[in-house]
Amino acid sequence: MSSPRLLGAALEWARSHIDAVDARALLCHVAACSRATLSGFPERSLTDEQSARFASLVERRRVGEPVAYLVGEREFLSRRFRVGPGVLIPRPETELLVEEALRRVVGRDRLRVLDLGTGSGVLAISLALELGAMVESVVAVDRSSEALGYAVWNAGALGARVDFRQGDWLAGLEGYQFDLVVANPPYVADGDPHLAQGDLRFEPMSALASGPAGLDDIRLIVRALDSHLADGAWVLLEHGYDQAVDVRALLSRAGLTEVASVKDLAGIERISVGRHRIDVASGKAVD
Ligand code: GLN
Repeated sequence: MSSPRLLGAALEWARSHIDAVDARALLCHVAACSRATLSGFPERSLTDEQSARFASLVERRRVGEPVAYLVGEREFLSRRFRVGPGVLIPRPETELLVEEALRRVVGRDRLRVLDLGTGSGVLAISLALELGAMVESVVAVDRSSEALGYAVWNAGALGARVDFRQGDWLAGLEGYQFDLVVANPPYVADGDPHLAQGDLRFEPMSALASGPAGLDDIRLIVRALDSHLADGAWVLLEHGYDQAVDVRALLSRAGLTEVASVKDLAGIERISVGRHRIDVASGKAVD
């Protein structure tokens, strides 16, 4: 099967099978052209090979494969990250986590940053690049070697210095202290019907689901963080739309201060934060 050869006709044909935005993204990818070219030069022609490839991508999209996997990349904070089956597709909500982290550490230096469950590396790499000289080190952990393959490739392509490690949350980081810890862990409840819908069907379950309430991994992370936080360290966790109260409680119970949640663009409390403070007089964490 192949699509019509001319860009304009190919686009129109695809739009009768899949969403118009997806059709444009796939056609730009196959024709290696900009969206402006598509609309400005609809009479340009695809090669035979391109029109066959386009038809196959449109069909794969029609049966549900995520556009990000079909084109092999997704933009995150204006940078392009390579993604594919085996790694979570970065979401726009997660961009907020970077912005909130940056806001909290302005003016500091020699920052030791940790990203837990880095996936394609978006958080670690964006923070490394945005913080630049303010950073002493960025460590990023993932249990999946497949995910780390993407992350390492992305850091290389984007010129970010990140120390990637394979491991289970904080296991293997004994003795390390951090000033900023971020994570977008799995947080969907096992059996949540969304797991059987849309892009999520194609993404790694290990990056999405986390126990009956979706809180198993967040609980593990918060518990394990304790001995890894330097005085003044910030912790920022992304979580599900209905988990902010629980995550704030976990952070407070772990002895963190300045605990709060941040709303995403849809008005949903999507990120919760806390800070580790040492009480100078007693040497204990301040509650
Ligand atoms: N926000 C994602 C979704 O439900 C879940 C990502 C995650 O579990 N970290 O679409």
